[in-house]
Amino acid sequence: MAKRLKIAVIGLGLIGGSILKSLKGKSYKLIAVARREETIQKAKEQNLADVYSTDLKVIKSADIVFICTPINKIKTMINNVIEYAKSDAIITDVASLKVFVMEYIINLQKPVKFIGGHPMAGTEHKGLDSALDDLYIGAKWILTPSDNINEEDINTLKNIINSTGAKTVITDANKHDFAVALISHMPLFLSQALFSYVSSYPDKEVRELALKLAASGFRDTTRLAATNVELAQDMIVNNLQNVLSASDGLKNSLTSLENLLLFDKEKFAELIVDIAGSRMNMYTENGKNNLL
Ligand code: NAP
Repeated sequence: MAKRLKIAVIGLGLIGGSILKSLKGKSYKLIAVARREETIQKAKEQNLADVYSTDLKVIKSADIVFICTPINKIKTMINNVIEYAKSDAIITDVASLKVFVMEYIINLQKPVKFIGGHPMAGTEHKGLDSALDDLYIGAKWILTPSDNINEEDINTLKNIINSTGAKTVITDANKHDFAVALISHMPLFLSQALFSYVSSYPDKEVRELALKLAASGFRDTTRLAATNVELAQDMIVNNLQNVLSASDGLKNSLTSLENLLLFDKEKFAELIVDIAGSRMNMYTENGKNNLL
Protein backbone atom coordinates (compact mmCIF):
# COMPACT_ATOMS: atom_id res chain seq x y z
CA MET A 1 0.00 0.00 0.00
CA ALA A 2 1.29 3.50 -0.86
CA LYS A 3 2.54 5.50 2.12
CA ARG A 4 0.14 8.22 3.35
CA LEU A 5 2.26 11.36 2.99
CA LYS A 6 2.29 13.76 5.92
CA ILE A 7 2.05 17.38 4.78
CA ALA A 8 2.62 20.29 7.13
CA VAL A 9 1.31 23.74 6.22
CA ILE A 10 2.79 26.62 8.23
CA GLY A 11 0.89 29.93 8.09
CA LEU A 12 -2.84 29.50 7.66
CA GLY A 13 -3.68 32.66 5.74
CA LEU A 14 -5.17 33.08 2.28
CA ILE A 15 -2.53 30.87 0.62
CA GLY A 16 -1.80 28.29 3.37
CA GLY A 17 -5.49 28.01 4.30
CA SER A 18 -6.39 27.47 0.64
CA ILE A 19 -3.74 24.72 0.37
CA LEU A 20 -5.34 22.89 3.31
CA LYS A 21 -8.82 23.39 1.88
CA SER A 22 -7.72 22.03 -1.52
CA LEU A 23 -5.99 18.97 -0.02
CA LYS A 24 -8.73 18.18 2.53
CA GLY A 25 -10.33 14.78 1.91
CA LYS A 26 -7.44 13.60 -0.30
CA SER A 27 -5.08 10.82 0.76
CA TYR A 28 -2.75 12.96 2.91
CA LYS A 29 -2.25 13.41 6.61
CA LEU A 30 -2.45 17.18 7.08
CA ILE A 31 -0.65 19.09 9.83
CA ALA A 32 -1.75 22.72 10.35
CA VAL A 33 0.61 25.18 12.06
CA ALA A 34 -0.43 28.74 12.89
CA ARG A 35 1.06 31.54 14.89
CA ARG A 36 -2.09 32.47 16.79
CA GLU A 37 -4.35 30.15 18.76
CA GLU A 38 -7.35 31.98 17.26
CA THR A 39 -6.32 30.84 13.75
CA ILE A 40 -5.92 27.25 14.97
CA GLN A 41 -9.43 27.37 16.45
CA LYS A 42 -10.85 28.57 13.12
CA ALA A 43 -9.00 25.79 11.25
CA LYS A 44 -10.36 23.20 13.71
CA GLU A 45 -13.93 24.48 13.30
CA GLN A 46 -13.57 23.91 9.55
CA ASN A 47 -11.93 20.50 10.10
CA LEU A 48 -9.07 21.48 7.76
CA ALA A 49 -6.39 19.09 9.08
CA ASP A 50 -5.61 15.99 11.13
CA VAL A 51 -3.18 17.69 13.52
CA TYR A 52 -3.19 21.35 14.70
CA SER A 53 -0.61 23.30 16.63
CA THR A 54 0.97 26.67 17.29
CA ASP A 55 4.17 24.77 18.16
CA LEU A 56 6.45 24.20 15.18
CA LYS A 57 7.79 20.96 16.70
CA VAL A 58 4.67 19.27 15.37
CA ILE A 59 6.25 19.23 11.88
CA LYS A 60 8.90 16.70 12.91
CA SER A 61 7.07 13.77 11.27
CA ALA A 62 6.16 15.68 8.08
CA ASP A 63 7.37 14.41 4.68
CA ILE A 64 6.58 17.75 3.01
CA VAL A 65 6.51 21.19 4.61
CA PHE A 66 4.81 24.19 2.96
CA ILE A 67 5.99 27.53 4.40
CA CYS A 68 3.13 29.99 3.81
CA THR A 69 4.07 32.93 6.02
CA PRO A 70 4.52 36.54 4.80
CA ILE A 71 7.63 37.22 2.69
CA ASN A 72 9.39 39.08 5.52
CA LYS A 73 9.14 36.00 7.78
CA ILE A 74 10.32 33.38 5.26
CA LYS A 75 14.05 33.33 6.09
CA THR A 76 13.45 32.98 9.83
CA MET A 77 10.84 30.33 9.15
CA ILE A 78 13.22 28.36 6.88
CA ASN A 79 15.75 28.27 9.76
CA ASN A 80 13.09 27.13 12.22
CA VAL A 81 11.78 24.47 9.86
CA ILE A 82 15.27 23.08 9.23
CA GLU A 83 15.70 22.78 12.98
CA TYR A 84 12.59 20.66 13.49
CA ALA A 85 11.91 18.84 10.20
CA LYS A 86 13.28 15.39 9.24
CA SER A 87 16.53 15.66 7.25
CA ASP A 88 14.85 14.08 4.21
CA ALA A 89 11.68 16.19 4.37
CA ILE A 90 10.97 18.21 1.24
CA ILE A 91 10.61 21.87 2.19
CA THR A 92 8.84 24.33 -0.07
CA ASP A 93 7.51 27.87 0.23
CA VAL A 94 4.92 30.00 -1.56
CA ALA A 95 6.62 33.41 -1.50
CA SER A 96 5.80 35.69 -4.42
CA LEU A 97 9.55 36.27 -4.97
CA LYS A 98 12.07 33.53 -5.57
CA VAL A 99 15.59 35.05 -5.92
CA PHE A 100 15.96 36.07 -2.27
CA VAL A 101 14.65 32.68 -1.09
CA MET A 102 16.87 30.59 -3.40
CA GLU A 103 19.96 32.71 -2.57
CA TYR A 104 19.26 32.16 1.10
CA ILE A 105 19.05 28.39 0.54
CA ILE A 106 22.32 28.32 -1.46
CA ASN A 107 24.13 30.12 1.38
CA LEU A 108 22.90 27.80 4.12
CA GLN A 109 25.65 25.76 5.76
CA LYS A 110 23.44 22.66 5.87
CA PRO A 111 22.19 20.79 2.75
CA VAL A 112 18.43 21.00 2.64
CA LYS A 113 15.86 19.48 0.28
CA PHE A 114 14.24 22.73 -0.81
CA ILE A 115 12.03 23.49 -3.78
CA GLY A 116 10.98 27.14 -4.11
CA GLY A 117 7.31 27.54 -4.95
CA HIS A 118 4.87 30.26 -5.97
CA PRO A 119 1.21 29.57 -6.71
CA MET A 120 0.00 32.05 -9.31
CA ALA A 121 -3.34 32.53 -7.61
CA GLY A 122 -4.64 34.88 -4.99
CA THR A 123 -7.02 37.64 -4.12
CA GLU A 124 -6.64 41.05 -2.47
CA HIS A 125 -7.82 39.55 0.84
CA LYS A 126 -5.84 38.01 3.67
CA GLY A 127 -6.23 35.54 6.51
CA LEU A 128 -7.88 32.14 6.89
CA ASP A 129 -11.37 33.63 6.50
CA SER A 130 -10.52 34.47 2.88
CA ALA A 131 -9.08 31.01 2.02
CA LEU A 132 -10.84 29.17 -0.82
CA ASP A 133 -11.07 25.46 -1.66
CA ASP A 134 -10.94 26.18 -5.41
CA LEU A 135 -8.25 28.89 -5.45
CA TYR A 136 -5.69 26.74 -7.27
CA ILE A 137 -7.94 25.06 -9.84
CA GLY A 138 -6.45 25.80 -13.26
CA ALA A 139 -3.69 27.99 -11.75
CA LYS A 140 0.01 27.75 -12.58
CA TRP A 141 2.34 26.92 -9.69
CA ILE A 142 5.99 27.89 -10.17
CA LEU A 143 8.72 25.59 -8.86
CA THR A 144 12.41 26.53 -8.50
CA PRO A 145 14.26 23.41 -7.29
CA SER A 146 17.54 23.74 -5.36
CA ASP A 147 20.64 21.61 -6.04
CA ASN A 148 19.81 18.94 -3.45
CA ILE A 149 16.59 18.01 -5.17
CA ASN A 150 16.18 14.93 -7.37
CA GLU A 151 13.52 13.92 -9.91
CA GLU A 152 11.60 11.87 -7.34
CA ASP A 153 11.35 14.85 -4.93
CA ILE A 154 10.03 17.03 -7.74
CA ASN A 155 7.46 14.41 -8.71
CA THR A 156 6.32 14.03 -5.09
CA LEU A 157 5.70 17.77 -4.80
CA LYS A 158 4.18 17.98 -8.29
CA ASN A 159 1.63 15.28 -7.43
CA ILE A 160 0.53 17.18 -4.32
CA ILE A 161 0.26 20.45 -6.23
CA ASN A 162 -1.62 18.77 -9.07
CA SER A 163 -4.12 17.47 -6.53
CA THR A 164 -4.97 21.10 -5.61
CA GLY A 165 -5.97 21.57 -9.26
CA ALA A 166 -2.87 23.60 -10.18
CA LYS A 167 -0.29 22.91 -12.90
CA THR A 168 3.42 23.18 -12.11
CA VAL A 169 5.89 25.22 -14.15
CA ILE A 170 9.60 24.73 -13.43
CA THR A 171 11.74 27.80 -13.97
CA ASP A 172 14.72 29.74 -12.74
CA ALA A 173 14.38 32.22 -9.85
CA ASN A 174 15.75 35.23 -11.81
CA LYS A 175 13.40 34.70 -14.74
CA HIS A 176 10.52 34.16 -12.33
CA ASP A 177 11.12 37.43 -10.48
CA PHE A 178 11.21 39.46 -13.70
CA ALA A 179 8.16 37.69 -15.14
CA VAL A 180 6.13 38.37 -11.99
CA ALA A 181 7.29 42.00 -12.00
CA LEU A 182 5.68 42.25 -15.46
CA ILE A 183 2.39 40.54 -14.69
CA SER A 184 1.91 41.08 -10.98
CA HIS A 185 4.14 43.60 -9.17
CA MET A 186 4.24 46.35 -11.83
CA PRO A 187 0.43 46.05 -12.35
CA LEU A 188 0.05 46.43 -8.58
CA PHE A 189 2.26 49.55 -8.71
CA LEU A 190 0.28 50.85 -11.70
CA SER A 191 -3.00 50.20 -9.92
CA GLN A 192 -1.75 52.15 -6.87
CA ALA A 193 -0.61 55.02 -9.14
CA LEU A 194 -3.93 55.08 -11.01
CA PHE A 195 -6.01 55.10 -7.84
CA SER A 196 -3.79 57.72 -6.23
CA TYR A 197 -3.89 59.98 -9.33
CA VAL A 198 -7.68 59.94 -9.62
CA SER A 199 -8.46 60.09 -5.90
CA SER A 200 -6.20 63.12 -5.43
CA TYR A 201 -7.07 64.90 -8.70
CA PRO A 202 -6.61 68.61 -7.91
CA ASP A 203 -9.98 69.90 -9.15
CA LYS A 204 -12.30 68.98 -6.26
CA GLU A 205 -15.52 69.11 -8.27
CA VAL A 206 -14.18 66.90 -11.10
CA ARG A 207 -12.53 64.52 -8.62
CA GLU A 208 -15.70 64.01 -6.60
CA LEU A 209 -17.79 63.53 -9.74
CA ALA A 210 -15.29 61.02 -11.19
CA LEU A 211 -15.17 58.98 -7.99
CA LYS A 212 -18.97 59.02 -7.71
CA LEU A 213 -19.32 57.78 -11.32
CA ALA A 214 -16.56 55.14 -11.09
CA ALA A 215 -18.07 51.70 -11.78
CA SER A 216 -16.70 48.33 -12.94
CA GLY A 217 -13.94 49.63 -15.25
CA PHE A 218 -12.26 51.66 -12.53
CA ARG A 219 -13.00 48.96 -9.97
CA ASP A 220 -11.32 46.23 -12.08
CA THR A 221 -8.28 48.29 -13.10
CA THR A 222 -7.63 49.36 -9.48
CA ARG A 223 -8.48 46.04 -7.77
CA LEU A 224 -4.82 45.34 -6.98
CA ALA A 225 -4.47 48.65 -5.12
CA ALA A 226 -6.51 47.00 -2.32
CA THR A 227 -3.95 44.15 -1.96
CA ASN A 228 -2.98 43.14 1.57
CA VAL A 229 -0.52 45.99 2.33
CA GLU A 230 2.14 43.85 4.03
CA LEU A 231 2.28 41.65 0.93
CA ALA A 232 2.16 44.63 -1.49
CA GLN A 233 5.02 46.36 0.31
CA ASP A 234 7.13 43.16 0.52
CA MET A 235 6.66 42.36 -3.18
CA ILE A 236 7.43 45.82 -4.57
CA VAL A 237 10.33 46.66 -2.25
CA ASN A 238 12.04 43.27 -2.60
CA ASN A 239 11.68 43.21 -6.38
CA LEU A 240 12.51 46.89 -6.83
CA GLN A 241 14.87 46.79 -9.84
CA ASN A 242 12.57 44.49 -11.81
CA VAL A 243 9.50 46.57 -10.93
CA LEU A 244 11.24 49.81 -11.97
CA SER A 245 12.45 48.25 -15.21
CA ALA A 246 8.94 46.96 -16.01
CA SER A 247 7.49 50.34 -15.06
CA ASP A 248 9.92 52.08 -17.48
CA GLY A 249 8.85 49.69 -20.23
CA LEU A 250 5.22 50.48 -19.52
CA LYS A 251 5.88 54.25 -19.73
CA ASN A 252 7.48 53.65 -23.17
CA SER A 253 4.46 51.64 -24.24
CA LEU A 254 2.14 54.46 -23.11
CA THR A 255 4.23 57.01 -25.01
CA SER A 256 4.10 54.85 -28.18
CA LEU A 257 0.32 54.61 -27.91
CA GLU A 258 0.05 58.38 -27.37
CA ASN A 259 2.19 58.99 -30.46
CA LEU A 260 0.08 56.66 -32.58
CA LEU A 261 -3.06 58.33 -31.33
CA LEU A 262 -1.68 61.75 -32.22
CA PHE A 263 0.04 60.96 -35.53
CA ASP A 264 -1.40 57.73 -36.97
CA LYS A 265 -5.00 57.13 -35.90
CA GLU A 266 -5.45 54.31 -38.44
CA LYS A 267 -2.56 52.34 -37.01
CA PHE A 268 -3.80 53.06 -33.50
CA ALA A 269 -7.22 51.61 -34.43
CA GLU A 270 -5.59 48.47 -35.91
CA LEU A 271 -3.41 48.03 -32.87
CA ILE A 272 -6.24 48.20 -30.34
CA VAL A 273 -8.20 45.61 -32.37
CA ASP A 274 -5.18 43.27 -32.06
CA ILE A 275 -4.80 44.02 -28.35
CA ALA A 276 -8.49 43.36 -27.64
CA GLY A 277 -8.36 40.05 -29.57
CA SER A 278 -5.23 38.82 -27.81
CA ARG A 279 -6.58 39.82 -24.39
CA MET A 280 -9.90 38.03 -25.07
CA ASN A 281 -8.10 34.86 -26.20
CA MET A 282 -5.83 34.77 -23.20
CA TYR A 283 -8.49 33.93 -20.59
CA THR A 284 -11.37 31.46 -20.45
CA GLU A 285 -14.89 32.66 -19.61
CA ASN A 286 -14.32 31.83 -15.95
CA GLY A 287 -11.13 33.90 -15.89
CA LYS A 288 -8.45 31.17 -16.13
CA ASN A 289 -5.31 31.67 -18.23
CA ASN A 290 -5.60 29.71 -21.50
CA LEU A 291 -1.85 29.51 -22.17
CA LEU A 292 -0.35 26.14 -21.25
P1 NAP B 1 -1.96 36.14 4.84
O1 NAP B 1 -3.32 35.80 4.40
O2 NAP B 1 -1.71 37.40 5.57
O3 NAP B 1 -1.44 34.92 5.71
C1 NAP B 1 -0.20 34.87 6.33
C2 NAP B 1 -0.31 33.91 7.47
O4 NAP B 1 1.00 33.76 8.02
C3 NAP B 1 -1.22 34.40 8.58
O5 NAP B 1 -2.29 33.51 8.72
C4 NAP B 1 -0.33 34.42 9.83
O6 NAP B 1 -0.84 33.71 10.92
C5 NAP B 1 0.85 33.58 9.39
N1 NAP B 1 2.07 33.98 10.08
C6 NAP B 1 2.63 35.19 10.13
N2 NAP B 1 3.76 35.13 10.84
C7 NAP B 1 3.88 33.86 11.24
C8 NAP B 1 4.81 33.16 12.02
N3 NAP B 1 5.89 33.79 12.51
N4 NAP B 1 4.61 31.83 12.26
C9 NAP B 1 3.54 31.18 11.74
N5 NAP B 1 2.61 31.79 11.00
C10 NAP B 1 2.79 33.10 10.77
O7 NAP B 1 -0.95 36.15 3.61
P2 NAP B 1 -0.99 35.31 2.26
O8 NAP B 1 -1.61 36.15 1.21
O9 NAP B 1 -1.52 33.94 2.54
O10 NAP B 1 0.56 35.27 1.93
C11 NAP B 1 1.40 34.29 2.45
C12 NAP B 1 2.50 34.01 1.46
O11 NAP B 1 1.90 33.66 0.21
C13 NAP B 1 3.43 35.18 1.19
O12 NAP B 1 4.77 34.72 1.21
C14 NAP B 1 3.05 35.64 -0.22
O13 NAP B 1 4.15 36.15 -0.94
C15 NAP B 1 2.52 34.37 -0.85
N6 NAP B 1 1.55 34.55 -1.93
C16 NAP B 1 0.48 35.37 -1.75
C17 NAP B 1 -0.45 35.51 -2.78
C18 NAP B 1 -1.67 36.40 -2.64
O14 NAP B 1 -2.28 36.78 -3.64
N7 NAP B 1 -2.05 36.77 -1.45
C19 NAP B 1 -0.30 34.79 -3.98
C20 NAP B 1 0.78 33.93 -4.10
C21 NAP B 1 1.70 33.81 -3.07
P3 NAP B 1 -1.97 34.19 11.96
O15 NAP B 1 -3.28 34.00 11.24
O16 NAP B 1 -1.82 33.23 13.07
O17 NAP B 1 -1.67 35.62 12.28
